[in-house]
Amino acid sequence: MNAKICKYKNNAKSAFTFVFDDGCYGESTEWTYEIFKKIYEETGIKFKATSAQTVGFISPRLKEMWERLFSEGYYDYCAHSIGHCICYCKDTPAEEMHKDASETKERLKEMYGTAPLIYATPGGGSDSFGWDILKGYYIANRNGNDKINIPGEIDWFNIGTFTAMLNRTTEEYTSNIDEIIKNGGWSVQVNHWITKKAEDKFHSQSFETFVNECDYLAKKAKSNQVWVCSLNEAVLYLQEAEKSTLEINGNKLTLVCPLDKEIYTYPLTVEIDGKLYDIKPNETITL
Ligand SMILES: [Zn+2]
Repeated sequence: MNAKICKYKNNAKSAFTFVFDDGCYGESTEWTYEIFKKIYEETGIKFKATSAQTVGFISPRLKEMWERLFSEGYYDYCAHSIGHCICYCKDTPAEEMHKDASETKERLKEMYGTAPLIYATPGGGSDSFGWDILKGYYIANRNGNDKINIPGEIDWFNIGTFTAMLNRTTEEYTSNIDEIIKNGGWSVQVNHWITKKAEDKFHSQSFETFVNECDYLAKKAKSNQVWVCSLNEAVLYLQEAEKSTLEINGNKLTLVCPLDKEIYTYPLTVEIDGKLYDIKPNETITL
């Protein structure tokens, strides 16, 4: 039997994640949802993005919107601080970072029923002092550095990003996608909101380039060149794939995963004699 764990789900060549920061841009979020929905209806490709949520920014009306988007499967969420003004770095007192890390987790759990697994440091300027604190509460941290992530070499508390900006052209977005397809990487795009206006604010992306980028991604996803996935899906998949091994016993195959059984439940794609199977951590299948 010839068996291996695929680098990405469904043996895709690369992976791409949208993370929308802050959680407070209601109208823009509804637009992204409409775009994702249209793509799903037309191509069968379902995008799931991640909302990095700043607890203090989520009004009851926004909470309602997010709950709807989470339940429809177009978004999930990660933590993005209590009040957005904390820097996870050497200059911040450790107790302040501990307080923010634990309270953000608690409050988001209260709001949505499940605790966030991943943190996304606000403001972009975190360092190893902050990452060490986050390690006590989360399984990964998205940082603000401009970098394509390569499986097997990822620093899990310093996940690299590609930042959306209003002055970027469609070609800049699509060439980032071409780049991950070429090198088998995982790109995490940081977005704030998408806009139909010409003035920039907090690195917005124009509505038009976003639509073009999504169309391009859907095409590449359709031919299995890109897995478009949320931050949670990618981190779970890649961390499990890093640590898991395949155990073969006669016609039985087990995906042995040493990671926390409560958290790491995401199925991995295993290629067995040229065929693909989705197998959950510690699940045994009979061939
Ligand atoms: Zn932010």
